[in-house]
Amino acid sequence: MKEYRFVVYKLQKLAILLRILGFDVLSFQNKDYISVINLTKKEKRILLSRVKFLRKLPWICYLNEDVLDEQLKQIINKLKIKVERDDLFTRCSSCNSILQEIQEEEVKKEIPSDVCGKGYWFKRCLNCGKIFWNGNHMPTLKEKLRKIGVIGEKDEDIK
Ligand SMILES: [Zn+2]
Repeated sequence: MKEYRFVVYKLQKLAILLRILGFDVLSFQNKDYISVINLTKKEKRILLSRVKFLRKLPWICYLNEDVLDEQLKQIINKLKIKVERDDLFTRCSSCNSILQEIQEEEVKKEIPSDVCGKGYWFKRCLNCGKIFWNGNHMPTLKEKLRKIGVIGEKDEDIK
């Protein structure tokens, strides 16, 4: 279980990336900031935002970077959080629920035919039903994780 839980406000891409890394992230784009603040407090989460007038709040990690990778670096450094490899791809990037590993056979009818028989892993979200697999986006994601130091230069064992 991750020590840190977040609320991400108006930074959808960051929310998705943090969920891929296994963090519990609630994400809001258009909700009014008062409700977002109240929810953050109530659930004892950390607010991640670039909204300037919120930056003095005690439980906000205000991000002064605009680029996604830099934002993640800033969070990792500031909060001294560790990204655990075992937590990667455990959470649904759309709804934040836990993913369950499933056999290709079980999802064959629901996935594009060109991802069948490639030896990919498949996971289904227990909440929204979305199916994930380690397809073409993996090299890009690996590169990103390498850049921010989550995995080593020669690390190939992340699938
Ligand atoms: Zn989901």
